[in-house]
Amino acid sequence: MTYDILIRGLIYSYGHIIPQSIIIDNEKIVDIKNITYNVNADKIMDFSLKPSIIIFPGFIDMHVHLRDLKLSYKEDFYTGTRAAAKGGITIVADMPNTVPETIGLGLLEEKDRIADSKALIDYGLYVGLPISINRFIEDLSLISLRAVGVKVYMYKDFYTRDDKNIFKVLLKAIAKYKLLLIVHAENPFFFKNDIRPAQSEVSAINDIIDMKNGINLKLHITHLSSKEGLRL
Ligand SMILES: [Zn+2]
Repeated sequence: MTYDILIRGLIYSYGHIIPQSIIIDNEKIVDIKNITYNVNADKIMDFSLKPSIIIFPGFIDMHVHLRDLKLSYKEDFYTGTRAAAKGGITIVADMPNTVPETIGLGLLEEKDRIADSKALIDYGLYVGLPISINRFIEDLSLISLRAVGVKVYMYKDFYTRDDKNIFKVLLKAIAKYKLLLIVHAENPFFFKNDIRPAQSEVSAINDIIDMKNGINLKLHITHLSSKEGLRL
């Protein structure tokens, strides 16, 4: 049998760098063998005598801001994922603060259609919260088919709402559909003009941890900026 590609060289695997042969067929890695293993292949890429070259698995960037939509003149899913591929990244997960914002089911579906037609690598989408959280929860089964996670900007999505109980319901629904909750943790009560002190972050992280108490949910605090916040 003749495979499509054989790559030989130093590979990074489970914390070790070892000489191996990677066998690829139909765009998939079908086997990894020792460096002397011999197979027929249409294309052979041999780096076994180049110790400065190390072959890594594809990287995942779980936090990107690809512009697209009304900011396509800056970047779109084609140019952004092309640059990612050049850098060895095989999956990107895109944030929702685009123009227009990716909030709720309709705008998520629209972005997914656009991304699907342009992206050169695999991608995931985060979805933001619209004004009506009840509607968002109703749509969550469909949202979960297209989004990898829900992004919450606490200063505008959480602290502006009088009814905090709805958030408990929301977090339970997010957990039910096994979506990741990504939180930009800032309590605007502590903002001093343009200054956003560490206390603002600490307060918001404490509030979201309290809110998630008893709910089996994957929580990711993003843009962490204070050592006090990190300790929590
Ligand atoms: Zn960001």
